[in-house]
Amino acid sequence: MSRREISAGCVVYRRSGNIAEVALIQPHDRQAWSLPKGLIERGESPETAARREVREETGLLGDIVGRIDTIKYSYNARWEDPPVRIFKIVTFYLLHSTGGDPSQHDREVDRVEWFPLDYAMAHATYAQEREILRKARDLIQSAESPHWPAPLLFPSEDSCV
Ligand code: ATP
Repeated sequence: MSRREISAGCVVYRRSGNIAEVALIQPHDRQAWSLPKGLIERGESPETAARREVREETGLLGDIVGRIDTIKYSYNARWEDPPVRIFKIVTFYLLHSTGGDPSQHDREVDRVEWFPLDYAMAHATYAQEREILRKARDLIQSAESPHWPAPLLFPSEDSCV
């Protein structure tokens, strides 16, 4: 048995001084740092689903800057009866955080943390999400350069707390 699932999610970013930071989550069911995302509901646009999932999983709000890319992976849902192979497609958007409260995340998430973008690019658990973060970096640079007179820094992990 197999099933296709279509999800949407976001790289949520904010400016902290001259540094770009992004929000990663630790899902409740595993030891991972990953991007917020979830299933697109019937009748919902991918952008609406992505913002809704961010609000539910991180408590954060924001404006979509643009689409980053789509990833695909598959896994066995052994806990389903009968077990099923899930083929998943996830489109990620860049979301500029305008506020919200990260303590208001739902129970599917254990932790929400802001990390410098380059640190997140190096430490996010899934390779495809690390690549999404790399592409987000380019989009942030072009989106922010007109409004960000000081040079935008992406400190490496050496300079990270
Ligand atoms: P959703 O957040 O869309 O509701 P979920 O929490 O039910 O999804 P996933 O996050 O897709 O499920 O995780 C299901 C399985 O896929 C887990 O075993 C997880 O480790 C693995 N997984 C999640 N993201 C990726 C990825 N980008 N690449 C490879 N495997 C992944």
